Amino acid sequence: MKKSKATKNAESYQTRALDSARAEFAMETALRRAIENGQLNLVYQPICDLATGRVSGFEALARWTDDQGLRHEPSRFIPVAEESGLIVPLGRWALDCAVRTLAEWDVLAGGNCGVTVSVNLSPIQLQRDSIPALVEQALASAGVPGERLKLELTESALIADPDHIARVLMALKRLGVTIAMDDFGTGFSNLASLQKLPIDVLKIDRSFVTGLLTDRDKVAIVRAILGLSQALGMDTVAEGIEANEVGQTLAALGCTYGQGYAYARPLEPHEAYAFLRARNA
Ligand code: C2E
Ligand code: MG
Ligand code: MG
Ligand code: MG
Repeated sequence: MKKSKATKNAESYQTRALDSARAEFAMETALRRAIENGQLNLVYQPICDLATGRVSGFEALARWTDDQGLRHEPSRFIPVAEESGLIVPLGRWALDCAVRTLAEWDVLAGGNCGVTVSVNLSPIQLQRDSIPALVEQALASAGVPGERLKLELTESALIADPDHIARVLMALKRLGVTIAMDDFGTGFSNLASLQKLPIDVLKIDRSFVTGLLTDRDKVAIVRAILGLSQALGMDTVAEGIEANEVGQTLAALGCTYGQGYAYARPLEPHEAYAFLRARNA
């Protein structure tokens, strides 16, 4: 008997769902091994003062090259890490690695190298791990003061358990750590929680920065975010600045800091240090 079109569609849907589940499981297995074998590394993207071009800090971003030399994008492996719980060991490693690198730059500079390092935190880590204790440990073992560390969290981290998040953030503030809201404007955080929580920095999402020069709606959104952050006494960092003119426009609108390919791509640690020396000389 011939299969109906609906049956065929259902079967091909099932095949595809199974294929993608298999691919995800394969990636999870490979990622687990990569974490165990130290196959991940961090690259560092400068965050610059838009008015002077000086480097104020670096954002640490995870990279993974597998046994076959294949590079995986964080936009693919971070979600897999989150779903599988692997984000917990991955996140611990990233935190340790980033503050250790900062300590190495301090040694190279013969003291304080003058920048901060920003580490991304997943909402899953905030739920499952004792972040303040981990942060305290990482800072102590690297000998780096909390004031040199920034933690980036997304709006989705605020939704799950607001009281828990408030306690975690307060504990982090006691360590001197700065809190940044990543990808701001793309999530569902309410303005009350922004005002109540100890958030120091808003990072304007790349989607509002790309095409800023030709899209008046984006200018309006950026202005609104800048107004909000000024009113709440926060700093702003614009993400994804790919052209110098965009950086200049953002500076004219009152944005203080920016990062993007116009300044530098994410760099290997030694390149990042060289960039810092050249820019801040
Ligand atoms: P994010 O935290 O918003 O990081 C900024 C992303 O924008 C990075 O992508 C960076 O390479 C990219 N980017 C920077 N400048 C430009 C630009 O001018 N144009 C464009 N098109 N892109 C730019 P990346 O490294 O692929 O990371 C993607 C996301 O993966 C990050 O977004 C972050 O959410 C997540 N991620 C990366 N590393 C970690 C980590 O160690 N832990 C956690 N939890 N998440 C991480
Ligand atoms: Mg980030
Ligand atoms: Mg971001
Ligand atoms: Mg982003």
